[in-house]
Amino acid sequence: MPLTVKAYAKLNLMLDILSALPNGYHDLFMVMQSVSLCDLVTLTENDSGELTLTCDNPQIPAGEGNLAHKAATLFFEETGLPFSGLHIHIEKQIPHAAGLAGGSADAAAVLVGLFRLCGKTPELRELIRLGAKLGSDVPFCAVGGLMLAQYTGTVLSCLPPLPFGKIVIVKPDCAVSTGEAYRAFDTAERIRHFDRAGMLASVMQGDLDGVCRRIDNVFEQFIDVPERVVIKGVMRRHFAQSACMSGSGPSVFGIFETEADAEAAAAELRRSFKNVFVCDCVGRGCEIL
Ligand code: ATP
Repeated sequence: MPLTVKAYAKLNLMLDILSALPNGYHDLFMVMQSVSLCDLVTLTENDSGELTLTCDNPQIPAGEGNLAHKAATLFFEETGLPFSGLHIHIEKQIPHAAGLAGGSADAAAVLVGLFRLCGKTPELRELIRLGAKLGSDVPFCAVGGLMLAQYTGTVLSCLPPLPFGKIVIVKPDCAVSTGEAYRAFDTAERIRHFDRAGMLASVMQGDLDGVCRRIDNVFEQFIDVPERVVIKGVMRRHFAQSACMSGSGPSVFGIFETEADAEAAAAELRRSFKNVFVCDCVGRGCEIL
């Protein structure tokens, strides 16, 4: 029986980089939220003895180059569970190279789905350990909801959910390489850091205004996405409580109190941009259907 897993996208409500680490990674402070924009990852066991992967978006690597393929290989290597053959199919809705962790979400969905197919309930620690071997956003995507991710993104703390209204996400027609974004941080002369303690206090107090005032992304200081100003302007005109870039961009999200404001902003943005999504916050990173 095929098993389908929803792989939810993530937004960074706060993304600060504290320092570059000697191993080439970065010490991060990220408040992350899962949203209902998702890919569908279907796992079908077979007797071929092979691991195969297809994706409905030809721009995404099929086969071994796909992070979801790497996740399945890692799963069987690390757990030692018997492998007879598997096909993975991905229906892509999350734009790629967009700062929304689409690849990481697919990889996390494969890990979660394979544990289910093998009849095992993984300890959270095990899921996070495996995810961290695949990429810094994978552990968050495997757990999801609202979380603080620290160090390289792999040290996670659960945060209480916030009563957000609607979210609008716009992906402008350009791609940002995450590697280049970090290199831009490494060579930046001055960095403005954020009120991290204030953000956490606001989250813990359920102070939505306080959270929205503090939403920020350090990459906005040195990743140039010309459309960002226009997108934020439209969102603000439609009463967005906050508008910010996610990850290393270029996607921009806005938080709206009412569905009517979110839909009005989305309608205006769709006149200029192809990829505009209205979605909700969700309390998990993956969901088995
Ligand atoms: P992050 O926010 O974690 O930095 P992102 O949203 O910027 O991630 P992805 O959508 O994960 O970026 O895609 C980055 C690159 O990874 C793509 O350009 C693509 O070549 C490659 N890739 C490999 N597997 C996948 C996948 N399953 N989905 C999307 N991209 C994938």
